[in-house]
Order: sequence, then structure tokens, then C-alpha cells
Amino acid sequence: MRKITIAIDGYSSTGKSTIAKELASALNYIYVDTGAMYRAITLFALENNCITNGIIDQNKLIDLLPKAKLKFRLNKELGYSEMFLNRNNVEKEIRSMRVSKQVSKISVIPEVRAKLVSMQKKMGKKKGIVMDGRDIGTVVFPDAEFKIFMTASPDIRASRRYKELISKGEKVTYEEVLKNVRERDYIDSNRLSSPLLKAEDAIEFDNSDMGLKEQFERIHYYTLQVIEKQKKNA
Ligand code: C5P
Repeated sequence: MRKITIAIDGYSSTGKSTIAKELASALNYIYVDTGAMYRAITLFALENNCITNGIIDQNKLIDLLPKAKLKFRLNKELGYSEMFLNRNNVEKEIRSMRVSKQVSKISVIPEVRAKLVSMQKKMGKKKGIVMDGRDIGTVVFPDAEFKIFMTASPDIRASRRYKELISKGEKVTYEEVLKNVRERDYIDSNRLSSPLLKAEDAIEFDNSDMGLKEQFERIHYYTLQVIEKQKKNA
């Protein structure tokens, strides 16, 4: 069967990666979480003292960028890939609030975006990929056969994220998480370099009142329709 490219964009904590992961596994496609890449560069910036009291030394980070080697490695036990930064598994650290608080400020830097977008384009060359992020349908794969734009209310997203962080033992308050969700929405949507934007040909999917099972079933159904249409047009 001819493989397609699936781009899933949307606001933070809309559950993009959960759905993207399930979809990739159902279709036997590769899954790429581009947020993990921006988070790994943020961790790299923190570890190399490029961020002091929330202020980013952009020139220092840009000079050091070639030294940040990112790699996704499949964890066979878990069934999905984990992020490695310079050979270290950073999967846990990149999901922490310490990284979440800085990541959107790092993601506005054009040199960071250029490095990561170029890696992402290479990963998707052979199609058969589900990639999630903020600019996948607009910048990374503008020709993707299927584009989804996920939304949900900020309160619902913050409460989902809060539960996830607490379950992982992070000491955060709901208010802190809600503030972070709102801040990231604002910075991601208003930055100059490839802002978060719904691609014209993306379908908007509001999952505020929808459980995971229903979301997956709907998106899976739409995807199979797109694949079927591609086959007929081939
Ligand atoms: O998807 P996730 O919430 O893990 O992404 C973390 C941050 O990385 C986002 O808030 C955004 O600032 C940045 N990002 C981006 N472009 C992408 C993916 C993520 O700017 N394609």
C-alpha cells in the first residue's frame, strides 16, 4: 500500500503525541515527536549555561548548536522511540517543568528551527510517517496528504498535563501548569519564525469533550479514507 505523510499540529498538551503514537503503530508508520527535539535543545541550552534567570544567551547557544547531537532510539520494551542528547537518554528530563518553562523561548530562535526542520524533513523523505508539532503541516511537510490541527480548552489541557506530571512525581501546582500552557500558546502563536498556525488544508479537531478511544477511532477512520483516496488517484 502506498504510504502517506501525516502531520499533526496543535496547541500544547492537546494529546497530539498520544494519538500520533497510536496512529503510527496501527498503520505501521514511523512516529516522530518534534516537541521532544525542541525540548532536548532546551535541555542542552540549560546544561551549557546558555540560560541565566530565564534570559537566553542566543549567540552562545547558536555557536554551540553543532555540538548538540540528537537521536531517536527505539525502546523495544515500550514500543516507541526515546530522545537521546549526545548519547544520553533524556526522555524524562525533557518532560520536566524546568524544560517546559524555557522551551518556547528557545523555539523562537531561527537557527534552532533551521537545524531541527532540516532533520525532520530528512526523517520524512520516504513517507510512512506521523509527525507531531506546531509547524509540521505549514513548514516541515506542506505537501502532507493528511493534516490535523488539534485544539482543546486551556483548562482541560492544563488539567491533563497536571495529572501527567503529578503521576511522574513532579512537584507542581495546577496554576503553575495552566500558566505555562497559556504562556507557551502565546509565544508559539506569536513568534515570527513559523508560528503555530492551522494549515489551510488541515482538519480542525477539538478534543475538549472526547476520550482517547473516540479520538483515535475518528482519526484512524479519516486516515484510512485519505489512504484509500490516494490509492484510487494513483
Ligand atoms: O509538543 P510539546 O509541547 O512537547 O512541544 C514543546 C514546545 O516545543 C512547544 O511549546 C513549542 O514551543 C516547541 N515546538 C515548536 N515546533 C514544533 C514542536 C514543538 O516550536 N514543531
